[in-house]
Amino acid sequence: MNERVERLRASLEEPLLVTTGANVRYLSGFESTNAALLVAPDRVVLYTDFRYAEAARALEGVELVETRRSLSVHLAELLSGTIAFEPDGVSFAQYQTLAAGGLELVPRPGAVEALRAVKDEEELAAIRAAAEIADRVYERLADERFTGHTERDLSHRIEQLFWEHGAEQLAFPVIVASGPNAAQPHAHPGGREIELCETVIVDAGCTMGGYCSDCTRTFATGPLPEDLHEAYAVCLQGQEAGLAAVAPGKTGIEVDGAARQVIAGAGLGEAFGHGLGHGVGLLVHEAPRLAPESADTLAAGNVVTVEPGIYLPGRGGIRIEDLVVVRDEEPEVLSRVTKGLITVN
Ligand code: ZN
Ligand code: ZN
Repeated sequence: MNERVERLRASLEEPLLVTTGANVRYLSGFESTNAALLVAPDRVVLYTDFRYAEAARALEGVELVETRRSLSVHLAELLSGTIAFEPDGVSFAQYQTLAAGGLELVPRPGAVEALRAVKDEEELAAIRAAAEIADRVYERLADERFTGHTERDLSHRIEQLFWEHGAEQLAFPVIVASGPNAAQPHAHPGGREIELCETVIVDAGCTMGGYCSDCTRTFATGPLPEDLHEAYAVCLQGQEAGLAAVAPGKTGIEVDGAARQVIAGAGLGEAFGHGLGHGVGLLVHEAPRLAPESADTLAAGNVVTVEPGIYLPGRGGIRIEDLVVVRDEEPEVLSRVTKGLITVN
């Protein structure tokens, strides 16, 4: 069996029923919306229904059991004894179904996620490819007209640029937030027309080989008011302080604190209301987290974002986000598109 399964087995006390899609994919290479993987000491069993069975038969090293469409009902009949499960990958209804079948269910959160947090070279190559496409999209974007277009128009254009540059999928719906909307970290692009002399936050990424990129740049549509101009400089300083703090052994709290200290030192601490960053891989948000409440410690091979933001209600906002690989030496910054304030038309 593959090395990922071997490492998982070494951490298990009882057979683990893996039901989170990204975790099933990570361990077996199998993609499905209705599959479970049982990792036991002596075998690995993939359960999925007819729609996916043909693809599953091609996998090596796993036994395939074709189930009925209602996977948890069938699993409750097939499994017995003590089984560990992923509390984040099972609905309450599914849990009740499994428990009613007489299984003794032990929650084991984060076992596969902990393995996924450390990327191998193949995974890094996929993330690097996705980050390169995002870079090229942002470079092209600087030539596009912003003013007079709505956020929605611009988000569609960005999506189109991703396809033109060979993206496999978008990693998440493109975020375009302009003017006062840019003061909301996760604003959805709406019908607002972009005006002169304001900030526009663009947050976007794509996947390659299933792995995500995630990048944010803030554009200016002409000279900015003094407060926003100043905030941009502070955000960038904070971002660079955060990047400089990325190293194996540093906690998520410490790295977050390095950026937060700079922003708070400029009197804008209240305006930076979210964590500094998150892990990126098969999912765009995964372990480890960089935040004041993070329980994680960085290790070489983690891929994280460093993305401070400064949000001034009613005025606008700024966020600058790079994707970075934690290395024993200097961190490898995958986002290479300029972080200087870019003025667009
Ligand atoms: Zn982002
Ligand atoms: Zn992000």
